[in-house]
Amino acid sequence: MARQRASYPCGVPSPPDSQPALDVRDLVKRYGATTAVAGLSLAVDRGSVLALLGPNGAGKTTTVEVCEGFRHADGGSVRVLGLDPVRDAAALKPRIGVMLQSGGAYPAARAGEMLRLVASYAAQPLPVDDLLDMLGLQDAVNTPYRRLSGGQQQRLSLAMAIVGRPELVFLDEPTAGLDPQARHATWKVVEQLRADGVAVVLTTHYMEEAERLADRVVVIDHGKQVAQGSPAELTHAGAAGQLRFSAPPGLPLDSLRAALPEGCRVTEGERGSYLVEGAVDPHLLSAVTSWCAERDVLAADLRVERRTLEDVFLELTGRELR
Ligand code: ADP
Repeated sequence: MARQRASYPCGVPSPPDSQPALDVRDLVKRYGATTAVAGLSLAVDRGSVLALLGPNGAGKTTTVEVCEGFRHADGGSVRVLGLDPVRDAAALKPRIGVMLQSGGAYPAARAGEMLRLVASYAAQPLPVDDLLDMLGLQDAVNTPYRRLSGGQQQRLSLAMAIVGRPELVFLDEPTAGLDPQARHATWKVVEQLRADGVAVVLTTHYMEEAERLADRVVVIDHGKQVAQGSPAELTHAGAAGQLRFSAPPGLPLDSLRAALPEGCRVTEGERGSYLVEGAVDPHLLSAVTSWCAERDVLAADLRVERRTLEDVFLELTGRELR
């Protein structure tokens, strides 16, 4: 998918590459008495992927719909490729790609026809056959849209969102319900988009997906940001992890604690299984193994366990069902 910098038929100047492709500041959106988005700010650079995470009802879809120009903001500002998503909707349409969960295809049209039709609207479309190959849709080109499996419809919808070489793409739960092969194919496409300099905004409930694809993650709840950072920053923050090992029961824990950096917790569980909690880094690992070596103790089954993005997400947004 070699990408050229798109030309702008509407004569609208493109923002400099240093400006974020998407710049949302203090966004507020209400539905009657419900405040769906309550002062949210985020920015997405070209060639990067932002994952917008949050439990159901957090305000993700509303935020994305305002950015796509489908809804008016009640407060704050939104700039999409330097433009206003509502006022400049016509100029932005060829430059942004939107993958909706509901597809947006004609039910009777065949998959291949549909994609070619969308490609025909674009000044410099991606090669349709390459895209069909990448998304494993070659066998489905002659199948009417309504007869495609859910996963095929979803992949076609992704193909339609990106075939026009958009500069900014919104993907709403792009892999929901997909089998592992289709999920991996979708991830490859997203990685390729990033490599081609496209800015990608992704909503997902799969933390593994966010951890793998996103350069930055914004976690929102009740319409507000509760955390943001790279997946590594979020998973390393605070209680950074755990270190477990097995050794003879009854080791002198006060002595071990004294040998470790301040703030580490050490506990002994059943049958000589030890748990060290704290900022797990090479120094901590070395302090534990040196302390054991001095006592001629073999720390067996030594392993480092980092928090996953899912752990962080649940800590931030709670474990109760919404
Ligand atoms: P998410 O995508 O994170 O699940 P939404 O943006 O869909 O969250 O919803 C945020 C809040 O706004 C929820 O309380 C939801 O019930 C409410 N909401 C969403 N769309 C509408 C609408 N069209 N009319 C009224 N309330 C809505």
